[in-house]
Amino acid sequence: MDRTLPSRRLDGVGSTIFAEMSALAVRTGAVNLGQGFPDASGPAAVVDVAVEAMRAGRNQYPPGHGAPELLDAVIEHQQRHYGIPLAAEQVVVTTGATEAIAAALLGLVDPGDEVVVLEPYYDSYRAMIQFCGGVRRPVTLRAPDFRLDSAELEAAVSERTKLLLVNTPHNPTGAVLSEAELQGIADVARRHDLAVVTDEVYEHLTFDDHRHVPLATLPGMFERTLTISSSGKTFSFTGWKVGWASGPEHLVAATESAKNWLSYSSGAPFQPAIAHALLKEEGFVEQLRGELVEKRDRLCAALSELDLDVFVPQGTYFVTTDTSRYGHADGHSFCLAMAEKAGVVAIPEQVFYDDQDEGRHLVRWAFCKEASVLEEGIRRLHGADLHR
Ligand code: PMP
Ligand code: GLN
Repeated sequence: MDRTLPSRRLDGVGSTIFAEMSALAVRTGAVNLGQGFPDASGPAAVVDVAVEAMRAGRNQYPPGHGAPELLDAVIEHQQRHYGIPLAAEQVVVTTGATEAIAAALLGLVDPGDEVVVLEPYYDSYRAMIQFCGGVRRPVTLRAPDFRLDSAELEAAVSERTKLLLVNTPHNPTGAVLSEAELQGIADVARRHDLAVVTDEVYEHLTFDDHRHVPLATLPGMFERTLTISSSGKTFSFTGWKVGWASGPEHLVAATESAKNWLSYSSGAPFQPAIAHALLKEEGFVEQLRGELVEKRDRLCAALSELDLDVFVPQGTYFVTTDTSRYGHADGHSFCLAMAEKAGVVAIPEQVFYDDQDEGRHLVRWAFCKEASVLEEGIRRLHGADLHR
C-alpha cells in the first residue's frame, strides 16, 4: 500500500475546471470569461446589514439549521414567488448550493445507487455522486437547443435508480426547462417513485419569455423533491456562500444530518444580510436580469462573428459555443490556445460529459462581467486568429 496516495474517491475529481481556468487567467493576465462570478458586488444595503451584524456581535456559530430570519425569508420567498408553503423544518441553510448538493447526495445516496443526471452536468454533481459510491446515469441535452427528451430520461431509469438530479436554469447550456419537460420529469419520478434533487441557483436569471418553474410545484412533486438554491447568483454575492435546501421534512432532515458533519454552520453575519436581500432587493434582481440580457446579446453577437456556432441561452450567466471549426483537438486545447493568443479565458465543457464526443468541442463563456471587461474580451477575440 502506498500511504502517500490520495483516496480513490478523488479519482478524476482532484481539481475543478473553474479553478484551473481562473488560475490560467491570473497567470496569463487574460480576460476571465470562464468562472461564473460577477465582478461587481451585490446591493450596498445588503453589505451594510452584514457589517452591522458583525458589529452587533453575530460572529459565532449560527444555528446549524440556519439563522431564524433567513429561514423566515426563504419561506416567504418560496410562498411569494411560487406559492409553495413551507414550515421551518422544511428549510435548511447551507454553505452555498455546493454544500446543499453535497449534503443531499451524502444524505440520500448509498453505494451502488444510481443517480440520473442531466448531461452536461455541473462538476460538483460528478464529484459528490462519486464520493457517495453512487453510479452516474447521464441523460444528454444536445445542441443546438439542449432540450430534454423524456424517452431518454425514462430509458436511463432502472431498478437501482435512487434519484433524479436536475438543474434548471441549466449550467452550462443556459437551457430553461419548459413546463412540458418538467412534466416529463415529474411523470418519470412519480411512475418510478423516485426522489428528485433540483438545483435552481439561476431561478431568477431567465431571459425573454422564459420563466423558471420549480419542479416542486408540479402535482405530486413536492413530497419527493428537494429544491436547492443560493444567494450567490441572485444577489451577486458568490463569495458569501449562503445557500439553502427546502422540501418535505424527510428529505430536508437527511440533508441536514449530512450537513452537520460538513460545515455544521457558516456565514453568521451573512445570513441576516441575505434575509434582507430576499425580502427587500427584488429591484436589484430585476435590474441584474435586464443587464444580463443586454450582455448576453452583446457577447452572442460578438461570438457569432467568430468561426463558432453560438447557442443563445434562455437563462443563467453563460453561453455555449461549438469551437470545432477552429481545428483544435478539443475545447480544452482551444481554451489554452485562446489564453495564449488572445488573452481570453473560457471554460471547456468536456469535463461535464460522459459522452466525450458530444462535449469535445463545446466551450462556455460567462457574460456576467462588467461591460468594459466584456468589451475588452471581445476586442481581443476579434484581433486574434484562434485557428490551429
Ligand atoms: N449549481 C450550479 C448549477 C452552479 O452554477 C453553481 C455555481 N453558482 C452552484 C451550484 C454552486 O453554488 P454556490 O456558489 O452557492 O455554492
Ligand atoms: N458556478 C460557477 C460556474 O459555473 C463556478 C463555481 C465554482 O468555481 N465552483 O462557473
